[in-house]
Amino acid sequence: MITPETGLARQQVVAAARYIHRRGLTHGRTGNLSIRLGERILITPTGASLGSVQADQLSVIRVDGEHLGGPPASKEAFLHVAMLRARPSATAVVHTHSSYSAAVSCLAGLDPDNALPPLTAYFAMRVGQLPLLAYHAPGDLALGPLAEDAAQRHPALLLRNHGPIVAGQDLDSALDVVEELEETAKLFLLLHGRPVQPLTTEQADALAPTR
Ligand SMILES: [Zn+2]
Repeated sequence: MITPETGLARQQVVAAARYIHRRGLTHGRTGNLSIRLGERILITPTGASLGSVQADQLSVIRVDGEHLGGPPASKEAFLHVAMLRARPSATAVVHTHSSYSAAVSCLAGLDPDNALPPLTAYFAMRVGQLPLLAYHAPGDLALGPLAEDAAQRHPALLLRNHGPIVAGQDLDSALDVVEELEETAKLFLLLHGRPVQPLTTEQADALAPTR
């Protein structure tokens, strides 16, 4: 199972895991990430901390989710499978419980079609429209089809009372989106209660990421 390709891929996953941990985008054993290599997905294992998971501790699953090697995959692997199935051009998925994004996901009264306004050009460029998916208990597979449907139109989704999940062309671009989303969620909460002027629909649409 370990080829030079997956050996390099393992290093990339671990480097991204450490980056997420160092940036404070994850806590405890939360968060998971994956990359797709042809018909296989390399993904962080269940119960792993992104601060300490090692290259030889990653799980390998098939693109349909079946376990192929290594320890059992993250219990949220089905969401990675759904995101990658919905977005053929994507090769990486990052999911975190990062604090500001998770805080926004708990607010009442959000627009389910777009949980955050385009406060900045960078959010409009990297994230665009952000669907909010209904709450599901951890591991509830019913969330998979909802994520797959929404991901066909949007690279970033916000899971209610949970956190963001993002598909990208590669790990670096998925990480960029997770960070941009987290910073915009922080701005959104900082601005709470004040009159806000986000970008207009025209301004945001002109910058929207390619679907
Ligand atoms: Zn999660």
